[in-house]
Amino acid sequence: MLTIANRLKSALDTIQDSALKAGRNPQEILLLAVSKTKPNQAIREAWNAGQRMFGENYVQEGIQKIADLSDLEGIQWHMIGPLQSNKTKVVAEHFDWVQSVDRAKIAERLNEQRPEDLAPLQVCIQVNISDEDSKSGLLPEEVMPLAETISQLPRLNLRGLMAIPAATESEQEQRFAFTQMQDLYHQLKQKYPQVDTLSMGMSGDVDMAIACGSTMVRIGTAIFGARDYPASQG
Ligand SMILES: *Cc1c(COP(=O)(O)O)cnc(C)c1O
Repeated sequence: MLTIANRLKSALDTIQDSALKAGRNPQEILLLAVSKTKPNQAIREAWNAGQRMFGENYVQEGIQKIADLSDLEGIQWHMIGPLQSNKTKVVAEHFDWVQSVDRAKIAERLNEQRPEDLAPLQVCIQVNISDEDSKSGLLPEEVMPLAETISQLPRLNLRGLMAIPAATESEQEQRFAFTQMQDLYHQLKQKYPQVDTLSMGMSGDVDMAIACGSTMVRIGTAIFGARDYPASQG
């Protein structure tokens, strides 16, 4: 039976292979282990195997895990799920990153609610790149105005962009979405030099995401196995 440590190792190998194939340095690409719905013990196992960055989608579940696992040194928590404005306070108080910022109101609340004794909250803007039906993420043309707002907020540090392209069998469609993200990322980076994160690529499309410049892939199933309850459940 494969352990979490085995699967983590093979996720890192996949990243390395894809990077080398794309002529990139594998160290430019970080692995976010997406632990939503998975028990604390699974996260401990991944931490023991050297993983430090974890992604959670649901606020209550996330803050419970952050409290339960506070003994794990160097652990870093990323909020990657949709965020409602009535939940921003606990997120600002407990997470290190929020990758799913998609409107000024959320950014402003996170800024006001980030405790002074913590480092600024690291944020990415979530872009709705191909899935018109999804309510998460903003349109590409709305990215620069929101980035301008975020850059004025002292308790937030704009790090880049995140996207979840619509699932597709077509490599061409996949490449098109990722390439659009890459273009947007370069525009953003030109204006805001601290920007260093293009978060895209999941268990099924890591290779293409890395070929198109991803600097952070978010992998759940391939590390922790299939989830027991659906991703849409809050
Ligand atoms: C669940 C989730 C992932 C991980 O998906 P897998 O298919 O399990 O690798 C990545 N990013 C986001 C935003 C997610 O919600």
